[in-house]
Amino acid sequence: MSKTFIEKIAQKLRIIPDLDREHTSGAKQELRKYPAIEDWHDHKELDANEWPKKVEKNYSLVPTTCFNCESACGLLAYVDKDSGEVTKFEGNPHHPGSRGRNCAKGPATINQIQDTERILQPMKRVGERGGGEWEQIPWSQALDEIASKIRTSLKTGARDRVVYHVGRPGHEGYTNRVLKAWGVDGHNSHTNICSAGARTGYALWHHHDRPSPDHANADVILLCSSHLETGHYFNPHAQRILEGMMDGAKLIVIDPRLSNTASMADHWLPTWPGSETALFLCWARMILEQGLYDRRFMEEQVNWEQWMEAVHPSEERTIDRFIELLKEEYSEYTAEFAAEECRIPVEQVIEAGNIVANAGSKLCTHVWRAASIGNLGGWQVSRSLHFLNVLTGSVGTKGGTSPNSWSKFKPELFNVPPDPEGWNELHFPREYTLSHFEMSHILPHLIKDGRGSMDVYFTRVFNPVWTYPDGFSWIEMLQNTEAVGCHIAMTPTWNETAFFADYVLPMGHASERHDINSYATSSGKWVAFRQPVLREFARRQGEEVKFTHEVNPGQVWEEDEFWNELSLRIDPDGEMGIKQHFRSPYREGETINIDEYYQYIFERIPGLPEAAQAEDTDPLGYMRKHGAFLIEEATYNKHEEEGWPTPSGKQEFYSPTMIEFGYPEHSIPHYRIKSHVHPSKLEGDDEYCLLPNFRLPMHIHSRSANAKWLVEIAHRNPIWIHPKDAENLGVEEGSLLKIETEIGWFVDKVWVTEAIKPGVVGCSHHIGRWRRKQDAGNRMMTNTVSIEDRGDGKWRMRTISGIEPFESSDADTNRLYWRDGGVHQNITHAVQPDPISGSHCWLQKVKLSTPAEGEEYGDVEVDTARSFAYYKKWNHWAKERETHPRGERRPLWMKRPLSPRQEYWFIDEEE
Ligand code: SF4
Repeated sequence: MSKTFIEKIAQKLRIIPDLDREHTSGAKQELRKYPAIEDWHDHKELDANEWPKKVEKNYSLVPTTCFNCESACGLLAYVDKDSGEVTKFEGNPHHPGSRGRNCAKGPATINQIQDTERILQPMKRVGERGGGEWEQIPWSQALDEIASKIRTSLKTGARDRVVYHVGRPGHEGYTNRVLKAWGVDGHNSHTNICSAGARTGYALWHHHDRPSPDHANADVILLCSSHLETGHYFNPHAQRILEGMMDGAKLIVIDPRLSNTASMADHWLPTWPGSETALFLCWARMILEQGLYDRRFMEEQVNWEQWMEAVHPSEERTIDRFIELLKEEYSEYTAEFAAEECRIPVEQVIEAGNIVANAGSKLCTHVWRAASIGNLGGWQVSRSLHFLNVLTGSVGTKGGTSPNSWSKFKPELFNVPPDPEGWNELHFPREYTLSHFEMSHILPHLIKDGRGSMDVYFTRVFNPVWTYPDGFSWIEMLQNTEAVGCHIAMTPTWNETAFFADYVLPMGHASERHDINSYATSSGKWVAFRQPVLREFARRQGEEVKFTHEVNPGQVWEEDEFWNELSLRIDPDGEMGIKQHFRSPYREGETINIDEYYQYIFERIPGLPEAAQAEDTDPLGYMRKHGAFLIEEATYNKHEEEGWPTPSGKQEFYSPTMIEFGYPEHSIPHYRIKSHVHPSKLEGDDEYCLLPNFRLPMHIHSRSANAKWLVEIAHRNPIWIHPKDAENLGVEEGSLLKIETEIGWFVDKVWVTEAIKPGVVGCSHHIGRWRRKQDAGNRMMTNTVSIEDRGDGKWRMRTISGIEPFESSDADTNRLYWRDGGVHQNITHAVQPDPISGSHCWLQKVKLSTPAEGEEYGDVEVDTARSFAYYKKWNHWAKERETHPRGERRPLWMKRPLSPRQEYWFIDEEE
């Protein structure tokens, strides 16, 4: 298209770029591709801040990986060679998972490291815990004092009183090795507010507890999602979903909310929360009735004979008879039944069902958080979804869904200490026999129930006071020094949990730490190296660095070196048997250093030594240079060599484990549990289902609160409500609504939208951050609140002021124009531990009303006495079915992170 006179003048004056000229010039060529890896230590580009002058800058580009979600996409840090500072992050094209691309949170890492309010020094509490007063201390003091407390605890012989509780993991076994060296069953995680429900459903089938969908090669992509593709594996999956769709794949999204993914779908099915199992079993029936099942896969890979023997012993033992019996077994799941349960048109059930039924081996399915973590019995969702893959023979195939462990690299460590001699009852209480993983969300309730306490409690990049349900019970636990002897918060940024710590230790963001990453983000297997980029830059410049905190901002450290140094101080003379696990495998009698730790792992990665040699370097040098390595192009059909790691060695359609552990009605996939938010359980016109477990794609739970680019995009969390419901309730856009949960209430504003199913209201649980007057940090996204302890478990939170601009060394902090920081809803949620999977059931049954006089936007009230009573009710459901065949606490074949020695898996009858 020809240009206007004004455009031509503007181009000449360089007000707008001259794309015609740049298309043919070398300069534009450079802009259109990543810099060549040979030039990474000597990269030149023009300084945008100097425009229109052409001032060249010199950079060293250092690869690392993003730390803002689990995907660990590749990043390239641009280190300004003159200032020695990181100035921006872009994608690393050598990373096989992300292939040079990132979501908004990747490049926003620069906001996190330049955050003017981040924690830069180790700090120790002054005054009472939670009082908000701190003093800076040196690392040596922090290490000595914490080591002394751990030593005292270990010397009592206790194996469960020193605990490491991780929010954002991603270090592939590093800390578990340390905990084993200390001899404690002390690993706790966030998994049971996240993926425990889905994991249970998958594990029942084949022990592998996560799916790996091959989106790029699928014919049909079926996502059950309220969170997926904007959270876990967001960018790596999103790019492959688009590739699949460009090749003709159909996208079906099951979600009561029109998510970004649903908005791109060929079919969006806004099912009632918790009804998904009914839908999938209906589609299973359609596959069977239409004869579209993979007979060979079923016959060879599924334990159908075991089911026939146990349930139909007099029937002919053939696959054809089995199929006939299956049709009878699932005959109740008609399209009409599914439509009724899901509250969607029957035509939609049939239309999407036909697409799924005809997908064959290229049916690619995924559920991660979403319905499987939302509902009582949510684990049935993944179990019934995987049933569709089993029926169509799309397990482990190209374009199908594989176990994620096939694509995940497990490092070989230089030293593996023995398994702990003990069992932590606070993490795996005996009544939750099938829980995946630790029962972390009821930790305060278990302690209140008199079932244990902790001497030393590390929270690592973990903020349960804010992210977990019933945060006031967490505050009560953390304020109680009898329950938690010493609380150490390891975090790069301030958070609501760190306010209640004894020590706050500044940990590194993505470019300030070592980690090893490997995730099943595609059909291949890769490993990536998160490295502290200024340390690598120093090495390239010929400088020696002993500890990473020497080059990081302030005194920011990394956990790896911290754990090593702490361990040596717990056992300085080696008498406790800890020190021996920290000896270098390369230098006799010396302590291992961080380079040697990773060198040992990289030397053992298949194919990496050869690739390194071809570039005239060693494996560590290769990973420092490239940041990632592709171990296997694709990992299909591994079961042909490895089989299935279940008791039967088959895909377990029929689970004897469920029978043995007291749940015979769940021996095969069925829709036997109605969600706690099933329409039949909602009473009156004012009761609704609250859908809180969805993520806005630009936020992380805690650490994005001062990432200014991300906060500017989203900083408030209104209530999504359908126009029909708004009309019934007499509210309109911006009106206030009071949302009453089982344990309290909050007041939020309304967003009227057709993007939510009628009868369901939504509210993202990633916004609503707060701090009290005495607390520091995160002023870009936190309201200032007052917290009132009114006695007898009654708590009130009020917003004193919203977000305000502030002076700092970053001029942008004085330009904040948003005032509304949203509302903290999670703190009003009751804990709802699923008796089987152990996962928290995020969806809440709520009453909606107009706030009374005096009740204002942002108000929160909670009664922790009520929350404890409510916990007891749910806990009872697990207790009444508690069964321990052969004395096993839980099935021996199921996973447990940081497994104790096998004898501790059995209940000691004398206990
Ligand atoms: S998806 Fe986004 S947040 Fe997650 S690792 Fe990749 S770039 Fe980072």
